[in-house]
Amino acid sequence: MNKEKKSIVVLGSTGSVGLSTLSVIEQNKDRFETFALTAHSRIDLLIEQCHRFEPKYLVVSDPNQLSNLKSKIETAGLDVIALAGQDGLNEIVQHDFVDFVVSGIVGAAGLGPIHKALLTGKTVLVANKEPIVMAGDFLARVARECEGVILPVDSEHNAIFQCLSPLLPPYYSEQGISKILLTASGGPFLQTSLADLRNVTVAQAIKHPKWNMGRKISVDSATMMNKGLEVIEAHHLFAVPAEAIEVVIHPQSIVHSMVQYIDGSTLAQLANPDMRVPIAHCLNYPKRVKLNVDHVSVKDILTLQFQEPDFKRFPCLPLAYEALSHGSAAVIGLNAINEVIVDEFLNEKIGFSDIPYFLEAALNAFEAPTPSSIEDVLEVDTAARQCVRQILMKSQTAEHGLSN
Ligand code: NDP
Ligand code: MG
Repeated sequence: MNKEKKSIVVLGSTGSVGLSTLSVIEQNKDRFETFALTAHSRIDLLIEQCHRFEPKYLVVSDPNQLSNLKSKIETAGLDVIALAGQDGLNEIVQHDFVDFVVSGIVGAAGLGPIHKALLTGKTVLVANKEPIVMAGDFLARVARECEGVILPVDSEHNAIFQCLSPLLPPYYSEQGISKILLTASGGPFLQTSLADLRNVTVAQAIKHPKWNMGRKISVDSATMMNKGLEVIEAHHLFAVPAEAIEVVIHPQSIVHSMVQYIDGSTLAQLANPDMRVPIAHCLNYPKRVKLNVDHVSVKDILTLQFQEPDFKRFPCLPLAYEALSHGSAAVIGLNAINEVIVDEFLNEKIGFSDIPYFLEAALNAFEAPTPSSIEDVLEVDTAARQCVRQILMKSQTAEHGLSN
């Protein structure tokens, strides 16, 4: 390992964000090297990445896969240390040698490692929005107290960050920001009739028109829950109240978001939809370094369109605003319930239109005290998952009873 280079942990290196991060690292080998790569199930891909990037550690987050990982390392003759589980993730993100942690894990599972990395003062590039949604306030406090840094990789939040630069927090109240315009592609079903939405398949739902992403975020984009989570993410990252965050549909995904100031100026960030752009921005911040991607051309911007979102077509979006108005327990509930329901949809246990139905039903049934620590956050998360599983079970029993 060479200390002239920045040493990076890529959490979830086998996923879509992970692959984009490795592509940026590969283009900038003189500046960056990988310290550790992690996977959950795709061990063969992790081994392949180890050959190319020569990290010191490989971690498999599923502890049952450790012996499989070790035997594949041995067969491949690789010189790398293998770790597993939450402990393995926590160990690598806190290592003295590490400069950056890129979190490309999907869902609440990323909360532990992001928290641990911030506790040891690391710079954490967060694509993994769910932990910010769940515990943004606590993570921001840990970052402040432990001199850690959170840099937003989610393309919209990275755009906002760029439009705010060189301002530093607190952004909203003191620095003249009047509104955030959060753009959304509208996903694959922007034009689909409400009747046809009922028959949407998993394959159709995960086929995003502009981005090539993991299954969970692709379904979230199709329901627009992704934008709901991003409203909450923006609220936490930039301390802007919900009423000052407006969602705008922009099918071309070229304008990644905008910031309005009280003097009448609106700043936007434009780029082709390619996650390597925000990842490279954060890895090089505050410098700008050449990146080999397709740049936006005049032709690309001749036909940019914007429209207001239809809350009836996308009921998950108003549900997210509503949860935010009810406070942090409701927001943690929203995120956890959504993870369970999306999983049910991906496993073909429920239909696409059932997603907002069960989300609303579970949110109405769920109650929890306001958390005052990260441990409390995890308890609320667990309780919300139990609540929605009970509702799903009852509905399956009722359906079974009806069909008998
Ligand atoms: P993917 O599903 O493509 O990748 C997820 C990664 O996390 C994989 O490496 C996977 O391992 C690993 N993983 C899965 N489950 C666990 C677990 N329980 N514990 C630890 N690791 C796990 O997702 P994306 O890359 O698309 O998204 C990652 C995060 O980034 C999400 O939070 C998403 O919302 C956010 N994001 C993604 C964008 C994108 O363009 N993809 C854009 C903006 C935000 P394995 O593959 O080995 O099973
Ligand atoms: Mg996004």
